[in-house]
Amino acid sequence: MNRFLRRLFTRPSTGSGMVDCVAVGKVLQRYLDGATDPETAALVSAHLDDCRRCGLEADTYRTIKAALATHRQPLPADAVQRLRDFGLQLAQTDGPNRRSI
Ligand SMILES: [Zn+2]
Repeated sequence: MNRFLRRLFTRPSTGSGMVDCVAVGKVLQRYLDGATDPETAALVSAHLDDCRRCGLEADTYRTIKAALATHRQPLPADAVQRLRDFGLQLAQTDGPNRRSI
C-alpha cells in the first residue's frame, strides 16, 4: 500500500487503524476488480463486512458488473471470419494497395 492510501486508511478522525468510508470509496472499484494489493484488499474487505453503507455500495457494483458481463454479445462468427480473411489477404500481398478488395 502506498503512503497516500495508508494515510487515508488511518486518518486520526477515524481512530488508529480504522478504515474510513471515503478511503474505501476511492479504492472500491479497484478492489472489486481485484487490482489492489493484499493489504488494501484485507482492509477494504473487513470494512465492507462492518459497514452497511459501503457493503451495499459494493453489492450494487457487483450486480452492475455481473449484469454487464451477461449482456455482452459474442462476436458474430461471420464477422470474425471476414476479419481473418482480410488479415490473411493483407499478409499475402507484397505491400499496401497492391490488391483491390
Ligand atoms: Zn463505510
